[in-house]
Amino acid sequence: QVILKDVRKSYGQLEVLKGISMSVNRSEIVSIIGPSGSGKSTILRCINALAPVNAGSINVAGIEVNDPKLDERALRRRVGMVFQSYNLFPHRTVLQNIMMAPLQVLKQNRADVEQRARALLAKVRLSEKENAYPGELSGGQQQRVAIARSLCMNPEVMMFDEVTAALDPETVKEVLTTIRDVAAEGMTCILVTHEMRFAREISDTVYFTDQGRIVESNNPKDFFENPQDDRTKAFLDKVL
Ligand code: ATP
Ligand code: MG
Repeated sequence: QVILKDVRKSYGQLEVLKGISMSVNRSEIVSIIGPSGSGKSTILRCINALAPVNAGSINVAGIEVNDPKLDERALRRRVGMVFQSYNLFPHRTVLQNIMMAPLQVLKQNRADVEQRARALLAKVRLSEKENAYPGELSGGQQQRVAIARSLCMNPEVMMFDEVTAALDPETVKEVLTTIRDVAAEGMTCILVTHEMRFAREISDTVYFTDQGRIVESNNPKDFFENPQDDRTKAFLDKVL
């Protein structure tokens, strides 16, 4: 469903992706882990065309991302992305935040969108907060609203970029539970995370990046128990 072939990306003289190839099947859960600056966020940004690539190809659900005639809207409708900072609109309620894009971007019917938004709020266990404003919620709750907002566009792929990195340890768990629920329903998920236990438990495949390259990929058991590359071993020694 998502296929990257030899993707290269530079910022000025700095080549930050040096030939990234990976493929993510429908309903597969893929985690990307690796040191800071190794290119993890850049991979996600290239996938939904927030950053143009210099070479190689990316295909998402049949859409060729590196095509000059790319319809970015059509792409981003299929690929939901949630970041560390949730960027909810502060002067809109939780329910309004979730409904905004389907109403304004997709011009969908209000009653349908509202019904879907309420169902998603229930899924992220925040039904009682639908009329609250983002400032009245905890970080973990805001992040779950951001996930619901993304899901309300009915994406085919969800990408999560360190969505728990800014949260208190106690609230991390509730957000991870939400991601687990999303994954369990068959959503294709690509997640960048520092939560190694979570990556191990939830992933079908783990990719390790270092200096703009994928050094190693494997099923989580073998990846964590029997890493092959010295860079992976050194990284896991530090973080586990
Ligand atoms: P972290 O774990 O800290 O989030 P990362 O693996 O996500 O790191 P990226 O954000 O993908 O790393 O960055 C990869 C490299 O690209 C870094 O050297 C970074 O400084 C550089 N970079 C990222 N975005 C830009 C940009 N917009 N302009 C210039 N350089 C950038
Ligand atoms: Mg990053």
